[in-house]
Amino acid sequence: MTLRRLLLAFVAVAVAPAVASAATYDTANFSTQAPTAELAKKFGDMAEFYRKEKALEWLGREMPQWSRRCPLQIQITHGSAGGATTFTFGSENGKPVVTSQQMEIRGEAKQLLNSVLPHEVTHTVLAHHFGRPVPRWADEGGSVLSENDEERFNHDVRCRELLNAGRGIVLRTLFRLTDYPRDMIVLYAQGYSVTSFLVKKGGDGRAGRGKLLQFLAHGMQGNTADSWNTAANKVYGFASVDAMEEAWLTSLKTPPTRVVAHGTTPPGGLTSSGGTKSELRSSAAPAVPLLEPPVKAVRAAPPETEPMRPVVGYPSTPVSPSVPCPTGTCPKPMAPDRPPPILLPPEIPRPVKP
Ligand SMILES: [Zn+2]
Repeated sequence: MTLRRLLLAFVAVAVAPAVASAATYDTANFSTQAPTAELAKKFGDMAEFYRKEKALEWLGREMPQWSRRCPLQIQITHGSAGGATTFTFGSENGKPVVTSQQMEIRGEAKQLLNSVLPHEVTHTVLAHHFGRPVPRWADEGGSVLSENDEERFNHDVRCRELLNAGRGIVLRTLFRLTDYPRDMIVLYAQGYSVTSFLVKKGGDGRAGRGKLLQFLAHGMQGNTADSWNTAANKVYGFASVDAMEEAWLTSLKTPPTRVVAHGTTPPGGLTSSGGTKSELRSSAAPAVPLLEPPVKAVRAAPPETEPMRPVVGYPSTPVSPSVPCPTGTCPKPMAPDRPPPILLPPEIPRPVKP
């Protein structure tokens, strides 16, 4: 985390002259800086669009206008895309609130518009809903849920590979993480997988997201093993987080459904989340070999260290300061507790027939 932030700071300094001459476009909630006026307007308008869309998806209502515009910096670069949203938290009339926020994203424009921007904007919806840092697995998992089909599929694939490799984190540990583990990719991939499972379990769509927010609210109260067990029981009816984990792993035994022709039942009878199709989009992410290359036609998953994945930072949070992961207290891999689950590779995507 620190290294990445340092890198970001360095990048910011390095591009300072370009930024100074960049165009700025103000909307109700964002002050968008981009290399050209056209891009600033495009990204500013899309940020407002996603701000409304994601709030409706998660909360069922729009967020009130922010008292100060969120600075949004756009850097158009070649290669893989990523971003960071930084919040500070405080309290207002005894209520926990976001006191400042800023967002920066960089990469190829299309990827930024389709995946990175909705991801980062989802962080703002979650942060403003709780007014304090959201458990990392759900913050990233919920934000990946806002990305395009290809990114979500890649996270699903990667999660299965990580579990097969014994690198998963037991849920009772994952839920309580307040900072990124050293094996950061696990948090994104597994966080997405569990988030997606719980949203579906809760009825999918807005209902499923609302239930997940309830679950988080209960679990965050104390953030103890007990609080998460109680949350799992109260909100989803599981006996415990361990029982929830069993159900999640069982759900993974069915291959993911990425491309499903209209009107057909996916293999294993698993229904996809409301949609009946997805699209293949080629993008320029770095290609690294997969452990078991299941999907040769699609671009490979992000690299191990996920250097350009969207990431959210929480500096100096007065309510719940984030604590670096000290040696010895990092999340336990799943292996010591149980044999690593062996999961099937996902099905090979087929193009959608018109
Ligand atoms: Zn993120």
